[in-house]
Amino acid sequence: MIGVVAVSHSARLGEAALELALQMVRGGAGFVRVAAGAGTDADGAPVLGTDAMAVAGAIDELAADCDGVLVLMDLGSAVLSAELALELRSSTVPVRLAAAPFVEGLLAAVVSAAAGGTLDVVAEEASGALSAKAEQLGEPAAPAVTVVPAVPATPVGSALAPPAASAAGDGTARTRHVTVRNPLGIHARPAALIAEAATGADVRLRVLPDGPEAAAASLMRLLTLGARQGTEIELRAAGAEGDAALDRLAALFDDGFGEGTDAADPSASQESVGGVPVEEATDPARTVPAVPVAPIVPVASGVVLRGRGVSAGRGAAGVVHLAPSVPEPPAEVSIAPAARDAEAKSIARAAAAVATRLGERSAAATGEAAAILSAARLLAADPELIADAVRRVEDDGASAARAVWDAAGAQESGLSALGGRMAERAADVRDVRDRIVAELLGLDMPGIPERESPFVLVAVDLSPADTAALEGSRCVALVTEQGGPTSHTAIIARSLGLPAVVGVVGATGIPDGMTVLVDGDRGVVETDPAEASIRAATVTADAAFDGRGILADGVAVPLLANVGGAADAVTAADAGAEGIGLFRTEFCFLDRTDAPTVEEQVAAYRGVLAPFAGRKVVVRTLDAGSDKPLPFANPDHEQNPALGVRGLRIARRDPALLDDQLRALALAARAESAQVEVMAPMVATVEEARDFADRCRAAGLARAGIMIETPSAALLAAELFEVVDFVSLGTNDLAQYTMAADRMLSELGDLNDPWQPAVLRLIGMVGAAGTAAGRPVGVCGEAGGDPALAPVLIGLGATSLSMTSRSLGRVATALAGLTAQDCRRAAGAALAASTADEARAAATAAIDRA
Ligand code: PEP
Ligand code: MG
Repeated sequence: MIGVVAVSHSARLGEAALELALQMVRGGAGFVRVAAGAGTDADGAPVLGTDAMAVAGAIDELAADCDGVLVLMDLGSAVLSAELALELRSSTVPVRLAAAPFVEGLLAAVVSAAAGGTLDVVAEEASGALSAKAEQLGEPAAPAVTVVPAVPATPVGSALAPPAASAAGDGTARTRHVTVRNPLGIHARPAALIAEAATGADVRLRVLPDGPEAAAASLMRLLTLGARQGTEIELRAAGAEGDAALDRLAALFDDGFGEGTDAADPSASQESVGGVPVEEATDPARTVPAVPVAPIVPVASGVVLRGRGVSAGRGAAGVVHLAPSVPEPPAEVSIAPAARDAEAKSIARAAAAVATRLGERSAAATGEAAAILSAARLLAADPELIADAVRRVEDDGASAARAVWDAAGAQESGLSALGGRMAERAADVRDVRDRIVAELLGLDMPGIPERESPFVLVAVDLSPADTAALEGSRCVALVTEQGGPTSHTAIIARSLGLPAVVGVVGATGIPDGMTVLVDGDRGVVETDPAEASIRAATVTADAAFDGRGILADGVAVPLLANVGGAADAVTAADAGAEGIGLFRTEFCFLDRTDAPTVEEQVAAYRGVLAPFAGRKVVVRTLDAGSDKPLPFANPDHEQNPALGVRGLRIARRDPALLDDQLRALALAARAESAQVEVMAPMVATVEEARDFADRCRAAGLARAGIMIETPSAALLAAELFEVVDFVSLGTNDLAQYTMAADRMLSELGDLNDPWQPAVLRLIGMVGAAGTAAGRPVGVCGEAGGDPALAPVLIGLGATSLSMTSRSLGRVATALAGLTAQDCRRAAGAALAASTADEARAAATAAIDRA
């Protein structure tokens, strides 16, 4: 009997699909398991997601009675969870992951399994499940289904033999030439598809005419091919299943991996990973390429260093340097031929141990940290890395540690040569290398030093595992010499709410223990700063939030959270946020090249609404463009993207994209019980606001608002309140556009400052218009989470503040000691100032007097 496991993001979807499938067979569900959802939140509401442990558990459960297990998955990360489950499971029956449609595939698989089909047959039935529907709709017939043999269970380490040894079957190699046709080339998603399509056969890819080569099973190697649109690739397959694998792969390439085959815009010098285009690293302020580390020059007291602020907030403490990484193993050691086999075997064992430990830490972590640790775990078990290291021991007599060092070095230089985002991943490979080498040599694991008191961590760069380990440590801020805005350091620092500045040249020269003040908003690191600045940065750093923003005189100031997806929303709910003041929906689709379907959007939005049952959730429609381009929304290269077709302006070209999003939001709102409000980004005119509000209402969304991010919108606030229900001040963009200073340039940080009097005066105009109209005025830019500015914003007329969850406690603390009158006094003092520094000083003095 063959068992079937259905992996879905949604428990409800999984159960419903199973119910449907079981209608087709007699005899119950003994051979089917559903592994769906990611548990429940504090209110018992289901959380969307997938859990590799649950999938592994389901496989193991079925393995007791079944000869094989077929796993079907719904979307994206379900595939990753299922792949991870193959390594986590303890059973050894053959397991196959099926690239079959979820509902139809499940039905077909259940029917076939119930009829006693073998694993091949059940898999074939599932994979061909769409053909009937396609035929009925007169669409081209589905490609012939190919039977792929069962994949034997492969515990970590056993798949690590060199590729040559894994060639099976008749030994004849078949080749096929294909062309990369999708605009973004082989980035993470196509690489995963290639690896999956090659399952069951020994396939290698080679860039023609004489470029690099990679095993299809190695995600990392595929990425380092650097294959872009138009690149010619030779596919070579050995073994009995070679032809079938080549057919599948050729179809994938022909189809552009589902990402389309349009020509890339030649004027846009972009590269991509995970489907997200990024700029070439020509502007050092934007992307910091991985460069050789410069000699360490001691930094003197009082020096101010500048870099790129990638995670907002300020933190001050003594510097602690990241523990030195493991020493380079000597190259001269030569292992005697008789001892090489044992030496080589120790590599797989060490890699497995490291992978297991990273897996455990991933299981214990949450959100981004968990995902990144999980990815590091996969890297530690990368078959290409291990096979290369094993080859170096067996053929060259290198020590195991040296072999791992060199094999990782080869991968790392491949990534660095690609530049941009790929180069940022080099730190991930170095980290895994150090861990495996430390394991082999019995050294302490490299990582975050343990400290009893708060510290600022300074490093050349941080590995994902290091950064993820910061959760729960006493680290109050991060400074790195390398890394860019998309590096894991930046991503995790933001999700942990740790202020971070990256790209700080010379940071490693700051003496251990020297006090520094890290300003993540402005990208500045001050050494030995004034006592007053330290107090301001640290006094409320750890303040907890009791779930209610309130002034000393009892005036309520709802404190809400800014989120980018379901994981953030769960964190925000745990932190006590009174609601969500900004849900940046574009963050859900950054890796998409095609527009998400309404159904996909509903799933993503419900994940954010669910943890806030009964509470307010302000959803912002896609703010694509400028620093957050979405390929499906901003296809054109623009000279001036910050001033171009971004945010609501996309609806000029593609109104259906906006209407679909509003429809999805209405459906999600109906399915959940959060109080959904919707707002548009980048509004400049009353007509735009009116049109948006009309579309919201037509979609069935009762409350429509806009962001005030342009000086025009601020100046027209009174008129705008006649057509929308509320506004929210996007102070990040309002400062950028008011001061005509690119918010991405840390060099212009002094201009991009909400304390600039011009910005404060515009905020004051909006606040006054809101008060006159009796309408809510939120603040959701970074200014809303600044404890020093929060009272001023309230005094200027803001009625709620929205911020990263980590800032809730500090802002609540700053407000709790002040009355509305105090806030107005602070606002008045700031408004009267003629410079940003004067405004800050005047407001602080007014608050100190309160
Ligand atoms: C803002 O501009 O202040 C804002 C909140 O939007 P974003 O930072 O996403 O542009
Ligand atoms: Mg904005």
